[in-house]
Amino acid sequence: MVDEKLLNFVKDFTLLPEQKPSEEIIFTKGKHLLEKLIAVDDWLPEEFTKPHPQYYQQYLLYADPLDRFSVVSFVWGPGQKTPLHNHTVWGMIGQLRGEEKGTPYYRQIDGSYQAGNAHIYPPGIVDTVSPDTHDIHVVENHLLDQASISIHVYGGNIGRIHRSVFDPLTGAEKSFVSGYANKLVPNLWNSP
Ligand code: FE
Repeated sequence: MVDEKLLNFVKDFTLLPEQKPSEEIIFTKGKHLLEKLIAVDDWLPEEFTKPHPQYYQQYLLYADPLDRFSVVSFVWGPGQKTPLHNHTVWGMIGQLRGEEKGTPYYRQIDGSYQAGNAHIYPPGIVDTVSPDTHDIHVVENHLLDQASISIHVYGGNIGRIHRSVFDPLTGAEKSFVSGYANKLVPNLWNSP
């Protein structure tokens, strides 16, 4: 059943924190669960696939009541791009539709940020971010003529976390809270 994919993912992912897993386990077992969720693009309700003409959209799909993880549908319109930003918690980015480009950035001695190797993500691929190693990046839609969608999972309620955007040239840091674009979340328990 199409509608049960997200519910099953949430069930499986809820069991992970019970085992107090290391980040390595999250990025293997948890990553595998996300790969399974994004393997076939037939389950995301249409209202969480809609791009905005100006801004990339972040639709909350599910938030753990204990803030141990959250699941978000990110929708980029043609050519849309994030500023340079961090997360402060581990994150996984699973490509569902279209194609995105992710570029990690690294802080230099003078405080500026230098781009590392960019990667292009086709559907089915999962990328990661981690405050321990590679938390700062820019993500953009690699397609200029259609929306791209990725399903993100974070080690906290990402829309409510105080985090930062950076000016790559000066390293100047500005605090922000991303929030969510949707007023209503999916009904995971609806009969298909
Ligand atoms: Fe990000």
